[in-house]
Amino acid sequence: MCSRCRTNEASVLAATSRRRFLQSVGGAAAGLALGSPAFAKDKKKDTKKDADKDRESPKPQNDIPPDVALSRLMKGNARYVAGVARRHDFKAEREALVGGQNPYAGILSCADSRIAPEYAFDSGRGDLFVCRVAGNFANDDTVASLEYAAAILHVPLFVVLGHESCGAVSSTIKSLKDNTTLPGHLPSLVANIAPAVKATMDQPGDQLRNAIKRNVVDNVAKLKSATPILSAAVEQGKLKIVGAIYRLDDGKVELIA
Ligand SMILES: [Zn+2]
Repeated sequence: MCSRCRTNEASVLAATSRRRFLQSVGGAAAGLALGSPAFAKDKKKDTKKDADKDRESPKPQNDIPPDVALSRLMKGNARYVAGVARRHDFKAEREALVGGQNPYAGILSCADSRIAPEYAFDSGRGDLFVCRVAGNFANDDTVASLEYAAAILHVPLFVVLGHESCGAVSSTIKSLKDNTTLPGHLPSLVANIAPAVKATMDQPGDQLRNAIKRNVVDNVAKLKSATPILSAAVEQGKLKIVGAIYRLDDGKVELIA
């Protein structure tokens, strides 16, 4: 997994019992994980001790339902906007998270350096499972990362977080308008963002704003319908997926989907 995972993936898989996984995401999703070499290997370690460990959350305050998670996230953003963010004791948080993680929200954010989800939601270590890519779209890798968050870490809430003046979206608009191909690997970003740009091309109002919003809405829908893991978690009410836009001037996050 990515460097944001402060835990050893194998230990997490070992600590996740087959029963709990089945309950979490349904048979189809469980079948995927049970078939993986990592799980097959770690099944042998599925002792009573591991099962007991599984029930312990490093941050018990993060074991909350989706709606409570959303409320908590937005309260954190309100503190950030008001300039009254909490002081985070990183030393204590580091120690608490040595054995695992149980973040209460997953964020699919743009890579833009002005966004910084941990700051924007005034959160500590182990609170947010953040996937970032310029243009905050769901591709195979980000969907897979969020599947891990939902199925293994039992994260109850995902937010697709777009933002004002997104360079990835404005570059896509320009590339399509000028009918030019960007250098390097940039066409990959364009290909992922282009559907939202094309869908809003003839809409009245600010084209960039419209495309940014549509890109968030489309990717919320994409995550909700991502079979078999995310769609099942949403259907079972274990996972809520919403979309939001971050305002650059005051840092406010507005829910839009
Ligand atoms: Zn951006």
